[in-house]
Amino acid sequence: MTSNEDRAPFVTRPSATQTLPLFSAKHAREDFPALAQQINGQPLTYLDSGATALKPQRVIDAVAAIYARDCANVHRGVHTLSQRATAAFEGARDNVQRFLGAGSRQEIILLRGTTEAVNLVASSYGSTLGPGDEVLITGLEHHSNIVPWQLVCERTGAKLVVVPITDSGEVLLEDFRARLTERTKVTAFAHVSNALGTVLPVEEMTRAAHDAGAVVLIDGAQSAPHIAVDVSEIGCDFYAFSGHKLYGPTGIGVLYGRRALLEAMPPYQGGGDMIDRVTFEQTTYNDLPYKFEAGTPNITGAVGLGAAIEYLEELGPTGIEAHERAVLEYATDALADIQGVHVIGEAPSKVAVISFVMDAAHANDIGEILDQHGVAIRTGHHCAQPVMDRFGVPATARLSLGLYNTRDDIDALLRGLHAVKKFFA
Ligand code: PMP
Repeated sequence: MTSNEDRAPFVTRPSATQTLPLFSAKHAREDFPALAQQINGQPLTYLDSGATALKPQRVIDAVAAIYARDCANVHRGVHTLSQRATAAFEGARDNVQRFLGAGSRQEIILLRGTTEAVNLVASSYGSTLGPGDEVLITGLEHHSNIVPWQLVCERTGAKLVVVPITDSGEVLLEDFRARLTERTKVTAFAHVSNALGTVLPVEEMTRAAHDAGAVVLIDGAQSAPHIAVDVSEIGCDFYAFSGHKLYGPTGIGVLYGRRALLEAMPPYQGGGDMIDRVTFEQTTYNDLPYKFEAGTPNITGAVGLGAAIEYLEELGPTGIEAHERAVLEYATDALADIQGVHVIGEAPSKVAVISFVMDAAHANDIGEILDQHGVAIRTGHHCAQPVMDRFGVPATARLSLGLYNTRDDIDALLRGLHAVKKFFA
């Protein structure tokens, strides 16, 4: 099979001062063993990285090495295995700090994923809220950046305020600014919408929220795998992402938090590791980041995430970003040419995701027929039911890209969509 990338690899233009590594999706595909398989007699076309990304061998090996060699608990043992496991675990934290551009490793909390990160902030920082306070979110949030805030509002008497989204699936800065008041204590919004692919103007939103005196949490679940993130540049107070969407293991994720805020916040969960001294009368807490890491952590998950970050750094994020943009444009143009296909979410700034509906078929039928052709996409409400309500659809079909996707994958999708049309004709 000849790949378009094979003929014309996407080449990043080197700057005057730095030679960037060339990124070749074709070569990178060889790093992902899952791509070598056939599904229903067809080569796998994986277009569901927004749900979870495939794992490169490098990550699989890093996880296996901990279990095979350095299998011990962290932070507690004086023996060699524990010291090795601790070094690997804390090394992963250093990788995350570098990846996010955070000022200190104490600002990197390793936890289960984006969902747990938002719940931590909602529960801990949220305990300072009271009646009359407001939490500002947007209309395109994933349920995990809605429900924790609803829970905290119920508990504290604060009010949830929602910035609407436009017909093209954007959140406009002026609509966001218009809802910021002196009552707004927290703003929480996605960097990239998982249902629409919209990129939000997070730096400007952060500045506006800070001007109004509110703290900012950014849900980076769909941005961290696709956009170079620098929390110092964005200036946000909290940034969350999940390892499994970044080519790392499931069950591991990150909360970046500004140190002064994390220090002032009460612990989220109690248990081992998060304490300094425990008596029945009184407990004092450990320093950051451990104050927020109660219990045995996901050691292999963290090490796998650290390996995923090193892998991405070696491939070169700039080249990956440009490659994914080219594939997204190719897919967007191709879908526009199919009669009866309607893209939901046409913001000018998008990454990695296209949601669509078809006149001919329900989203689930599209997904099932595509699977017969070896093409994996996501169908349903994408844990963003308010987005579905906004666009008046029960569900969409969603393709989402990873660094390994090529135009050939989009061509396979198009062949599948033509089969869907034929089936329902
Ligand atoms: N936010 C967004 C935008 C997401 O896409 C997801 C995952 N679909 C989440 C939050 C939740 O991530 P996790 O399930 O890994 O905690």
